[in-house]
Amino acid sequence: MTQAHSSQTSQNVTFEQLGLIPELLARLTELEYVTPTLVQTGTIAAVLEGKDVLAGAITGSGKTAAFALPLIQRLLSKQSTSVKGNQIGTLVLVPTRELAQQVADSFKSYAKLIKPRVKVEAVFGGVSANTQMLALRGGADVLVATPGRLLDLMSNNAVKLGQVTSLVLDEADRMLSLGFEEELTEILAKLPKQKQTLLFSATFPEEVKILTDKLLSSPVEVQLQSEEESTLTQQVYTVNRNRKTALLAHLINENDWRQVLVFASAKNTCNRLEQKLEKAGIAAQVFHSDKAQGARTRVLEGFKNGEVRVLIATDIAARGIDIEKLPVVINYELPRSPADYMHRIGRSGRAGEAGLALSLISHDEYHHFKVIEKKNKFRLEREQVVGFEASEEAPLDCPSREIKPMAAPEGMGKKKRKKMPKVNADLWAKKS
Ligand code: AMP
Repeated sequence: MTQAHSSQTSQNVTFEQLGLIPELLARLTELEYVTPTLVQTGTIAAVLEGKDVLAGAITGSGKTAAFALPLIQRLLSKQSTSVKGNQIGTLVLVPTRELAQQVADSFKSYAKLIKPRVKVEAVFGGVSANTQMLALRGGADVLVATPGRLLDLMSNNAVKLGQVTSLVLDEADRMLSLGFEEELTEILAKLPKQKQTLLFSATFPEEVKILTDKLLSSPVEVQLQSEEESTLTQQVYTVNRNRKTALLAHLINENDWRQVLVFASAKNTCNRLEQKLEKAGIAAQVFHSDKAQGARTRVLEGFKNGEVRVLIATDIAARGIDIEKLPVVINYELPRSPADYMHRIGRSGRAGEAGLALSLISHDEYHHFKVIEKKNKFRLEREQVVGFEASEEAPLDCPSREIKPMAAPEGMGKKKRKKMPKVNADLWAKKS
């Protein structure tokens, strides 16, 4: 690894100084982006120069613009906006459907003033593949895809990757933790060796390090956003398990939060919690993988535009979903993996807004929270809410539920694919 871009330099740098063209600058003015975020400062110029980039960017750091803006500009300079015959210019791989749609929308928005039009498509599962096949008929300048659906389309010859000039792996850690390694291997094998690769990851577990070492060539390394700049406050309340729901309702009512995203570990917990909150007079919606894609989209839209006040979700909402000015995230139950904890809390305190991440932990979760703290290198004081204090000993009815770290999150398990080609051990090989 190579040039580290200092996180201190962003203060005085402008988007213009980073080398963006007037059409993009004008669009940023429309969007009221005044100064680049740290990850944008570290990334944009390097991407424009065609370099590989390895960026450790926490969610909400502005990473989408960090790669989308310079990649749009590079497409223009290469005059490759005329890709045809199912070919793709820039491929962006993301772990979830919602993130695919969101990143594609961001590309479209940033490229709004560019002529000729930059063709951006998104493909992901849970919706009809036919529409996506039709949309890809003339190729696309930018394709944002989840790995599974992309492979399905590739096997139907609906998309070809032989002309890809830039590849982005967004939320690489999440893709690997969701079991997409084999899918990624297959996809990477179909890409040209000569290309620019950008890898964004919030955390750097061993699997991501292996991937970065093999995939990136002398990358520019962009540092993680420093903790001092975080606008997110974290708190942890200890509470008896059988009092959690009452505490949650109490907190929502007492604090009169405008919006709350509540995370639970299982789909049925989400459903039960929704019913209990409703009984307590708090309207909520659930968001998990048992919901059809259409319902998921509607619920998320409702939450984004403020119609839904309380959203109860499993970890499928933990990554990448950008909800503007979300004031509070509550862990009703802890996630299994320490990395998912960071992704969950990253839903709040985005783009410089103040945010609060609250974890309600019962006796059976004390130890696991310590693990989360240790792995993520922070330590919080245990607090109690008057009237909801945790007893010193675990109550007899408290389940001795052991939370096993790093189990695969709900709804995103590895899909068995028919006729899977043999995995070639050399597929992660360094690009030349
Ligand atoms: P991301 O980390 O890409 O999901 O971006 C988080 C949020 O920050 C999105 O709502 C972006 O529109 C917003 N954003 C990104 N860059 C900037 C910037 N330079 N100034 C203001 N807002 C930004």
